[in-house]
Amino acid sequence: MDNVREQIEFDVLFVGGGPASLAGAIHLMKLAKTRGIDLEVALIEKGANIGSHALSGAVLNPIALKELIPDYMEAGCPIETDVRGDEFYFLTSTRHYGVPFVPKYMHNKGFYIISLSKFVSWLGSVAEGLGVNVFPGFAGKEVLYGQDDRTVIGVRTADKGVGKDNVPKANFEAGIDILAKVTVFGEGPRGSLLQAISKKLHIFDGKMPQVFETGIKEVIQLPGTNYFSDSQGNDIHTFGYPLGLNTHGGGFIYEMKENRVSLGLIVGLSYQDPMLDLYEEFIRFKRHPFVSKLIKGGRVIEQGARTIVSGGYYTVPKLAVNGGLFVGSSASMLNPPALKGIHTSMKSGMLAAEAIIEAFSKGSFTQETLSYDHKLEESWLKRELYMGRNFTQAISKKGLVKFFHIGAQYLTGGRGIFGKMPIEEDSKTLIPLRDVHSPRTKMYEKQAYDGVLFVDKLTGVYLSKTQHREDQPCHLIVHDLNLCVDTCFETYQCPCTRFCPANVYELEIDDKGRGRRLKLNPANCLHCKTCEIKDPYGNITWTCPEGGDGPGYTVV
Ligand code: SF4
Repeated sequence: MDNVREQIEFDVLFVGGGPASLAGAIHLMKLAKTRGIDLEVALIEKGANIGSHALSGAVLNPIALKELIPDYMEAGCPIETDVRGDEFYFLTSTRHYGVPFVPKYMHNKGFYIISLSKFVSWLGSVAEGLGVNVFPGFAGKEVLYGQDDRTVIGVRTADKGVGKDNVPKANFEAGIDILAKVTVFGEGPRGSLLQAISKKLHIFDGKMPQVFETGIKEVIQLPGTNYFSDSQGNDIHTFGYPLGLNTHGGGFIYEMKENRVSLGLIVGLSYQDPMLDLYEEFIRFKRHPFVSKLIKGGRVIEQGARTIVSGGYYTVPKLAVNGGLFVGSSASMLNPPALKGIHTSMKSGMLAAEAIIEAFSKGSFTQETLSYDHKLEESWLKRELYMGRNFTQAISKKGLVKFFHIGAQYLTGGRGIFGKMPIEEDSKTLIPLRDVHSPRTKMYEKQAYDGVLFVDKLTGVYLSKTQHREDQPCHLIVHDLNLCVDTCFETYQCPCTRFCPANVYELEIDDKGRGRRLKLNPANCLHCKTCEIKDPYGNITWTCPEGGDGPGYTVV
């Protein structure tokens, strides 16, 4: 197959069509034009369309957008609504208490509520208008290296038309080798190419482990008369129920236009109870009296799930290697206390673009020339990341002690009591079921679904418009299935069946209760990567399917 593989060459290749890559590509084209440099730039995205894999609880701080496209309103930037005011609540199982003090980093008044999917799609059209060659439906499958085996020279896209049996079918199309002087990796959280580069070039050496949260989110169409009025805050955050104080995370509800709300629950993947089911927790959040009053009479019109990289400053990898650099969520560019990563991702892409244009001026594409560390150091992005450098470590603490640490950080500009606080990898935090005092399973027993406002996992997958060609190799590699049904079942009762929000993993037990089998439904996969991150044995590897598949988000 290799001898028929097509090669295309560009000056710069962006891998991933999220805010970081798109802002980087737009900024690069503008800089090149100003400096009279002629660049051929390409961007590939594994989703069927630009924006179809973009999901976030999206309040946009427009600071980077203003720098990138100063006339963004005139240019048609899709804004749902302005944030009129912030509300912050502590939830118990039946009540809600307004928190009188909203931390300053969560002040969103004047920012915008957006659909990330629409926003990213718009950025894609701006990039295309500037001459970027945008190729949706192409998954970067493999990093290509030069003769020294250390310089990135591009990526190979996935083959299409290979059957489940790994045999090319009649419609087979070999992946393309896209070569570039500079390749920018902006794959989003837990990028699979970034993992491969990390194994080879050790870009995370000496850093704290990246840690993650998983967010499940919906857009709900409300009836004509609803909670939101012009006098009320339309940016609502909650903490407490249903997760309690030992599992970090919380809920959000944002008003959108056309009588819609965007609502979600974010769960820190440092949780300990192997029986915790992310989707069931999300439904419990929606059933809370405070939340259910807000969404009463509504209908879910779209749902999705995604991980969020939350470790912050101390988990930022080396930002460049020879021929390649790293932007956005895959490089931990998120401000954890502000719960925002869109503007920080965009800025990282823009700083990378500035480093690239200088590299072209010098005709050198080494790690030293491409690294944008010094630009980061001088920018507001560094200040934001640094201010939140211990935040996730603090909120991952159990019980009330977390508030002590958060308070200390608030007063000391992020330093806290002890300075740099350690953090544990999410895959190491589950505790064996026999040691869990009161597993959460009982809490899920009474949940019922009406198929309209409360939908089950499979209906949620349907509402995410997820599609995969069935006859392709399974993109989820479970390295040892026996480990799953023996050791993992005995110790944790197969937590993958609960942390996957899309029912991809199912445990089948025979009539006599002895034979166990893990069944996979990869066609349901939402590409959230939770399974690779949280699996306690490192037994699951998420790889890109052939491209053009996965979720088909349009409004979330
Ligand atoms: Fe997310 Fe993994 Fe489930 Fe896919 S299989 S939806 S990546 S947890």
